[in-house]
Amino acid sequence: MTDTTKFILCIGGVVSSIGKGVTAAAIGRLLKARGKRVLIQKLDPYLNVDPGTMSPYQHGEVFVTADGAETDLDLGHYERFTDTELRRECNVTAGQVYSSVIEKERRGDYLGRTIQVIPHITDEIQRRIMQLRKDDVDVIIVEIGGTVGDIEGLPFLEAVRQLRRSVGQENVLTIHVTFLPFIQATGELKTKPTQHSTRELRGIGIQPQVIVARTDHPVSQEVIEKISLFCDVDPKAVIPLPTTDLLYEVPLVLEYAGLGRYIADYFGFNEEPDLSDWRSLVARMRKTQHATNELNIGVVGKYVELHDAYISVKAALTHAVSQIGCRLNLHWINSGQLEKDPDYRQKLMELDGIIVPGGFGPRGVEGMILAAEVALEEQIPYLGLCLGMQTMCIAFARQRLALEGANSTEFDEATPYPIIDLMPDQTRVTDLGGTMRLGHFPCQLVPGTRAAAAYGEENPILERHRHRFEFNNAFRELFQQGGMVFSGISPNGHLIEIAEGKDHPFMLGTQFHPEFQSRPDAAHPLFLAFVEAAKAVRHLMPQVETAVSVQLERSSY
Ligand code: GLN
Repeated sequence: MTDTTKFILCIGGVVSSIGKGVTAAAIGRLLKARGKRVLIQKLDPYLNVDPGTMSPYQHGEVFVTADGAETDLDLGHYERFTDTELRRECNVTAGQVYSSVIEKERRGDYLGRTIQVIPHITDEIQRRIMQLRKDDVDVIIVEIGGTVGDIEGLPFLEAVRQLRRSVGQENVLTIHVTFLPFIQATGELKTKPTQHSTRELRGIGIQPQVIVARTDHPVSQEVIEKISLFCDVDPKAVIPLPTTDLLYEVPLVLEYAGLGRYIADYFGFNEEPDLSDWRSLVARMRKTQHATNELNIGVVGKYVELHDAYISVKAALTHAVSQIGCRLNLHWINSGQLEKDPDYRQKLMELDGIIVPGGFGPRGVEGMILAAEVALEEQIPYLGLCLGMQTMCIAFARQRLALEGANSTEFDEATPYPIIDLMPDQTRVTDLGGTMRLGHFPCQLVPGTRAAAAYGEENPILERHRHRFEFNNAFRELFQQGGMVFSGISPNGHLIEIAEGKDHPFMLGTQFHPEFQSRPDAAHPLFLAFVEAAKAVRHLMPQVETAVSVQLERSSY
């Protein structure tokens, strides 16, 4: 534990969804580039204990840490930008804070006192920030979810206000991340919402030292001066952050705008930043955005309207294609619509590769199974992630093994062939929060398989899980006879972790979520193997103009 730990607070203003998480992550990278050990923590003011039980439509992806916490998707940005494995304590919710205070009250820990937001809730929030110091880090970046003015955010802001007093003002830097709206009629960027938001922050006793102003338009020196004057911030510390289509560019933009130097000077860090690797990474990604070689990859899922629901899948794909020099043309395919579409086969056949990502509940599952069936029949490279591995096995059972009605008992409890089921020692749970197989579990790779080849030397591997159901061992032999290879198995031999189809260019499913461990400079081996297979298959095919009519989005990466 160091007493000289520095704290950076990232507090949002004006509107949400402006990339506060990416900003915090990018600042983490700037500090790492200066040789600092960094941890990033997200404080979420909602009352859920964790986002695990929330719909992806509400919350986007649930990011799973190695130690098995279901966390906010911003932790995914933090891990990818700082290349640091985060842990459970890096995501604190109001639900956790309140329940632990109430638990202590019930135990009688407060000795007859009245329990109040100040000091009991605010103390608990501070305790949860301070406990990260035991990791021996130089800088802890704390991002507070929501924006200034949210009622539920107040205890968190009060807690960090107090934190400044307890650790010393000089050890805390507050960054206010705001948005500058553009008025079309007059062609102006407006600073007023930023002024108001800063004033509101000041009203609760917090004066930011830095303002990061998100904008979709160039910011003039005049606008910078205005923000500086009205918000009482050094002009050097007004940092414009224009929208970019390549998230990994953000650290470079912030460094160029002088934020890295400002933070270093504030805390007395003398190290020169080394961003050379990051620069080459960004250059490589930029280059692949314009590569002539393109890969059409379809993600067949049920939450595709909200791309945030699969943000790590998209990131992992981006890492992989940039490593093989191809441009990613990502197609979001709604599995629920696909199952009703008479032309589904044709549409899927226009793709170079299919990914079926994770998911819960029966809606849209038949569409995912159809996608796996087409991939199997038409030799289209397929990567199944958790649920996508289960749908692959169901498709295989129905199609290759003629097990009509095969299913997972999650979707059909009365199926004659429960290919995917709960483990025999598992009971059906009524309590949905935190009752799954979560986080890192080891997996032994079987030599000579595609999976073993992809991972190389590493064996066993550790991958992150988030699921309740498993491949049913009663069907193992039948599957093997039919041409399925179980290439990754739990060390005790009980659980199938990776399955792959023989006689297919690439048909592989994982019971875990490899996407969480992919890094921009080190694509996950299975994603890499998948896009390589997609590229190889594409080259074998006659190059016809594809007219993909499914919902299409040019990747914004
Ligand atoms: N619903 C499936 C299970 O619980 C898959 C979960 C997932 O894809 N994360 O096993």
